[in-house]
This record gives sequence, C-alpha cells and structure tokens, in this order.
Amino acid sequence: MEEPRDDDRPFDLFAPTPEHALLRDTLRSFVEREVEPQAMAYDRDERFNHALFRKAGELGVLGVTLPEEYGGAGLDAVAAVQVCEALSTSDPGFALSVLAHSILFAHNLSVNGSELQRKHVLPRAATGEWIGGLCMTEPEVGTDVLSLKTTARRDGDVYRLTGRKTFITNGGVDETTLGDCFIVYAATAPKTISSFLVEKGMPGFSLGQKWKDKVGMRASFTAELVFDDVPVPVANRVGDEGEGTLHMMRNLEIERLTLAAMSLGIAQRSLQVMVDYASDRKAFGRPIRDFGQIQRHVAESFAEWRASRTFVYDVARKIDLHGAGQRLDADATKLVASQMAKRAADAAMQVLGGYGYMGEYVVSRLWRDAKLLEIGGGTLEAHHKNLSRELARNPGVLRD
Ligand SMILES: Cc1cc2nc3c(=O)[nH]c(=O)nc-3n(C[C@H](O)[C@H](O)[C@H](O)COP(=O)(O)OP(=O)(O)OC[C@H]3O[C@@H](n4cnc5c(N)ncnc54)[C@H](O)[C@@H]3O)c2cc1C
Repeated sequence: MEEPRDDDRPFDLFAPTPEHALLRDTLRSFVEREVEPQAMAYDRDERFNHALFRKAGELGVLGVTLPEEYGGAGLDAVAAVQVCEALSTSDPGFALSVLAHSILFAHNLSVNGSELQRKHVLPRAATGEWIGGLCMTEPEVGTDVLSLKTTARRDGDVYRLTGRKTFITNGGVDETTLGDCFIVYAATAPKTISSFLVEKGMPGFSLGQKWKDKVGMRASFTAELVFDDVPVPVANRVGDEGEGTLHMMRNLEIERLTLAAMSLGIAQRSLQVMVDYASDRKAFGRPIRDFGQIQRHVAESFAEWRASRTFVYDVARKIDLHGAGQRLDADATKLVASQMAKRAADAAMQVLGGYGYMGEYVVSRLWRDAKLLEIGGGTLEAHHKNLSRELARNPGVLRD
C-alpha cells in the first residue's frame, strides 16, 4: 500500500519524506566538506577523529533516531540508514564509530533505558560530548553470546562487574583515554544476561589494549576493556535483571540493517571510481570500458548494488525502532549487502589494475574496510544459522 504523502514529489524510496531529502543533502555536503579530506590520513595513522565526531554531533548526525526531547532528531530507521550509507561512501571507519555510538549505544539506551538514564546520557550522546559503545564480545565468546563470562554480582546498592570485553568499537578515544560510557552485557546468574551502564572513572574499569594493525576500519578505535570488580550502582542497571538478551535481540535488527547500509556506501563509491576510471584509462588504443571483461565488473557491481539498496531501504521503512519483528529481513540485508560490497570493492580494484592496489587510491581502503561487514555485528555463518532457523519457524514468509 502506498504511504500517505505530505509533499508532491514523486515517491523516492531512498528519501521518502522532505526530512529525509533534507538529511540526504546535509549528509552529502558534510561528507564532501569534512569527511573526505581527512579519511585517508586517519586510516593511515590508525586514529579516531574525535574533532570530526563532535562536528557530526553539532550537525545532528549522532542522534538521528533519538527523541527530540533528548536532543535527537526523532527520525526513523530510513534516516539511520542514510547516515551510515553516506558516511561510508567516504570513510567507513569513521562511519563504524558513528554507528557503534548512535545505534549500538545511544539508540539501545533510548529504547531500553529508564527515564533517568535517558536524561543523563542521551543529550550528551546526541552532541558527541560523550562517546559511547556496546560491550558484548569477549576474548573467548563471540557468536555464542549467551555463554558470556563477564559477571555482575549484586552487593547491596551496587553490582560488582568482573570480566573482559574485546573488539569494542569506541572503547577508547586515543592511546590512553577510555570512551565515556558503555552498555555492558553481563551475567547476573548462569545464562541470565543483564545490561549495565558503565562510565569512565568507575573504579576498576580500564582500557586493556588498543587493537592495532587491523585489516580495515582503521579510523575506528577497537579496544579490549577490563572490568575488575567495578562497583556499578543498581541505578545503572538497564531494565530488569535478565532483560539483557531481549535488549540485545531488539537492537540487533537496527544494527544489522545499518551495517548493511555501510555496505551500500562502500559499493556506491567503488562504482563511482571504477566507472570514471574505465572511461579515462586507455589500453590498446581504446578506453578500457570497451572491453567486455571490464563491462562485466561494472555491470554486475551496479546491478547487485541497486538490488541490495532497494532491499535495505525497503526493510528500513518497515522496521519498528522500538520493538522487534524484522529479524529475518535484518539478517538477510546484511548477509546480501556485505558480500555485495566486498565484490564491488574487489571489482573496482581489478578495474584500476596496479593503481587500485596502491594505498593512495580509495578502492584499496574500501576493499579492506568491506571485509569487516562479513564479521562484525554477526558473521555470515551466524546469519546463515539465524535465517535457516527463522524460515523453518515461519515458512509462510515464502508464500506471501
Ligand atoms: C573491527 C571490529 C569491531 C567490532 N566492534 C564490536 C563492538 O563494538 N562491540 C562488540 O560487542 N563486538 C564487536 N566486535 C565483535 C564482533 O561482533 C565479533 O567479532 C563477531 O560477532 C564474531 O565473534 P568472534 O570474533 O568471537 O568469532 P567466533 O564467534 O568465535 O567465530 C569464529 C568462527 O566460527 C564461526 N561460528 C561460530 N559459531 C558458529 C555456528 N553456530 N555455526 C557456524 N559457524 C559458527 C563464525 O562464523 C566464525 O567464522 C567487533 C569486531 C571487529 C573485528
């Protein structure tokens, strides 16, 4: 059914309302003016650009889905997709930091936290005054998340948190400075997971190590974080004891969708670069775009990107940001888009030949960054597992 329209533009799946159209324009100029000029240097130096993050906050990019009363833009999943897609056309590493902060952390708290917690954290998260992240993965536990080993033991007015989390995006800001605030999943009893807000400065909470020499996403800070008997006030428990699994599942839908959106940005930029290059570069007296094998790289990448983009935006229109119910589609978008982006970046590198392999051309960075999307936020194999299980439970999906 067609949505009610509040303007007379022809329907645009990628910017369905005037607010989305405005956001698209704003993002385009922010990316051109602020993101692109710094992307290569921050990747090379493996540094997180804190100043740029604050600018994104000033622009409203960090709080697109947060309610307006807490300084957010009060927009929907389509807007969150637009942000992650646009930033990833230029700097997927920076986009990953924005996603971890605004979706995994702030949006998660906005949906699952108490009024007091929202008031305390969200205005600071929306401006970028605070940088946040989500701590799920541990050194010995990733996909099998319900087996996590970090514990939270009730001790009067506090929980004592003990354990280690690893691969945490935004875990630090620079070599020695922790991020400001995190949602941490910990077991309050065996197989009973609860969520906690843990802030920089709590005794026993420290930066274990910064992961260096990552394949890609080098402009995002990936950390191991240590919790050594950290006294976390009971008031910092998010929701009730045992609700952590529910929070996780709710948040994974929008997480996977926005990671799929990052794949779209990577593929779009790969296409721009390869199409231009195929016209400019000559071999055997003709532009290389005249060669069928080059045409195949361009055409396959374009068709796959278009199909993935339509799928991602279609699912974004249907996702309920405050509930759950699009799990199957959220997994499917990331499964298809992440592999599509890796193929598109690979095709771009092939079309550019030796130049594509050189660090000063953007495609080698996109190629490195694309791989993360097949691992983070759920591996390809985790999506296979989830999709097969959900389809067996809901065979009706195949008959709609
Ligand atoms: C750059 C980066 C940033 C990240 N950011 C964050 C973050 O901010 N917060 C956070 O909590 N985590 C983060 N992660 C962690 C990420 O989500 C995990 O790496 C991912 O979930 C996989 O977990 P694992 O690495 O422990 O691998 P494992 O779960 O140990 O998997 C190893 C292999 O076994 C396969 N496997 C496992 N179980 C099954 C199964 N049942 N069936 C078939 N195959 C299986 C996996 O698919 C994979 O191929 C980040 C990771 C990276 C690399």
